[in-house]
Amino acid sequence: MERRNGMKTLYEVLDGSSGDAEKLEKAGEILKAGGLVAFPTETVYGLGGDALNPTSSRKIYAAKGRPSDNPLIVHICRFSDLEKIAWDPDGKAALLAEAFWPGPLTMILKKKDIVPPETTGGLSTVAVRFPSHPAALGMIDAAGGFVAAPSANTSGKPSPTSAQYVAEDMDGKIDMILDGGDVGIGLESTIVDLTEDEPMILRPGYVTQEMLEKVLGGVSIDHTILDASSPQRPKAPGMKYRHYAPKGDLAIVEGEPERVTERINALCEKAAQEGKKTGVIAADETAALYRADSVKTVGSREDEEAIAHSLYRILREFDDEGVEVMYSEAFSSRGMGQAIMNRLLKAAGHHVIEA
Ligand code: AMP
Ligand code: MG
Repeated sequence: MERRNGMKTLYEVLDGSSGDAEKLEKAGEILKAGGLVAFPTETVYGLGGDALNPTSSRKIYAAKGRPSDNPLIVHICRFSDLEKIAWDPDGKAALLAEAFWPGPLTMILKKKDIVPPETTGGLSTVAVRFPSHPAALGMIDAAGGFVAAPSANTSGKPSPTSAQYVAEDMDGKIDMILDGGDVGIGLESTIVDLTEDEPMILRPGYVTQEMLEKVLGGVSIDHTILDASSPQRPKAPGMKYRHYAPKGDLAIVEGEPERVTERINALCEKAAQEGKKTGVIAADETAALYRADSVKTVGSREDEEAIAHSLYRILREFDDEGVEVMYSEAFSSRGMGQAIMNRLLKAAGHHVIEA
């Protein structure tokens, strides 16, 4: 692999064989020594460093170009490790852990002193997740149990759903990339804040509001993240940044399906006349109706898991193809659709056109 930025990045492929254990051990050694390792999880690829080592956290911010007020999620691999880093005064975290861990749910709790402020962006709270991906768990265990990891992309770019995308952003900047193939879910974890009286979703994800309510009763959602006109700041510091963004201009077109198709085709024609390369993001059901340089299907409109799985890959493919102007259909915002529309709105900088 090409060498950039002076550092040689080791690249190891995990194939599910007994040889993986040695690679995860090696990754653990690198992490314990203060190095950085990108690794697969069930949501997106993470960029890991020792969560209890302030130098490692500083290195993560530097490798991503991430603003230092945007805290990291601490990944654990045992239920019993939660109480070593966070307080759970009313037992809500234990209930959610039992229901959803290991899995794509991150909880915000008051932190214990062992977690350095460098890891939490200076906050007195800490974000904790227990992922389910076996390679992630093996690596966290080998690293000593606490791995701080944001998504393994350059800040502002779509989160990586394959090791190839990690390498595009991180080669030469980190010590190691563990390639575990394509991720399963494709969108980042749900974040729920448990530090106030009523639990609040700060970032929607695979674990939905309805699923959380079944366990906890009332759960609200931070509305600033779905409504661009809100004057309030989102409660998760990271949600205020333009994020997940492709290089070209993306807008979402909403309305009656037939009008959406007509409007997108007219907008693409206009852009093409201006000499711009055009792209469309559409559901399987309508993809054939579009005329653009590049039409990408996210899967069936009915299949939210397929849409979540392909969204970031498509945004990166448009970048690779040099697409300059993109239009996307809107998708349902029920259930996991809320997470999909949240990421799509952010990628579009909340640019929505009514058809
Ligand atoms: P990423 O690591 O790229 O998935 O982003 C992590 C997200 O979690 C960002 O939006 C952070 O702002 C958010 N986050 C992490 N720790 C906290 C915390 N203690 N309080 C609120 N949000 C947090
Ligand atoms: Mg991220």
